[in-house]
Amino acid sequence: MPRPIPGWLKRLLLPGWNAAHHFGWAAREYLGSVVRGKFERCPVCGRTRPMIHRPRVIPHCLVERWGLSSRLTEALVRKESGDCAGCGARLRCRRLARVLLNLYPAGHSPTPASSIAQWVETPEARSLRVAEVNRIDGLHEFLARLPGFTTSDYRPGAAPGAVVEGVRSEDLTRLTYPDESFDLVLTSETLEHVPDLDAALREIRRVLTPGGRHIFTIPVLPGVEQTYPRAVLRPDGSIEDRAPRISHPGGDWGYPVFTEFGADVLDRLQEAGFDSEVRFGPVWEDDLAQVYISRKLP
Ligand SMILES: [Zn+2]
Repeated sequence: MPRPIPGWLKRLLLPGWNAAHHFGWAAREYLGSVVRGKFERCPVCGRTRPMIHRPRVIPHCLVERWGLSSRLTEALVRKESGDCAGCGARLRCRRLARVLLNLYPAGHSPTPASSIAQWVETPEARSLRVAEVNRIDGLHEFLARLPGFTTSDYRPGAAPGAVVEGVRSEDLTRLTYPDESFDLVLTSETLEHVPDLDAALREIRRVLTPGGRHIFTIPVLPGVEQTYPRAVLRPDGSIEDRAPRISHPGGDWGYPVFTEFGADVLDRLQEAGFDSEVRFGPVWEDDLAQVYISRKLP
């Protein structure tokens, strides 16, 4: 009978085994994208690279709790992966980049900036005051080169505006930025996690200049007519569930989802004092990666 591997040896080998396993998956996804010819020019980094499809990005638990069909799951996988092998920007991030390049054209014609990497070097972009609320991986690294760029990450329990481990913490329902201090506020898959949506929209509106824009992504499923609360935050800080609890990114772990957005989202934004539109729409079974634009009415 073979001798069992001693526990100490297993503990020693495990990190290496896990790393090799992880590397194997990453290599398979990368090669799969190359084989399937998923090459694109990335509007964030400007490089032509494989866009890496990662089916495992959406956990089974989230699929079950959210009641996603296999077609919707695929659409969600595309939105949350398709990572550019050059900069890591996933599809929803690259679409945000396309909207920025379209709404804030910059650079010398006839060759205006065609990537965020070029755009951030132009005087037009460098004159903008931009607030990113919660880091948008892929885009963040380039936007951080702008002189008027401010970023924050929400840290539960931290005082609003406090700096935790070098990063400012901001709560969307009570931002510490002065009135009318930004031309542009960016959020991506964040609004659904805010316990008080109306307060968040009021605050975003307050910190924007007249005519300034909030450009963002949120999860919206086709067939949901009205926006509704999945959960409500009680005054004592506990959470009252109104629908089966969903958290991101794990389904059953991460940040709870408070708002399930529906087809009335543009009306909700209009009521909050924004002139709003959706790009890459409409929401449908094969495409869940829309970008919303809310312009503050003067
Ligand atoms: Zn890229």
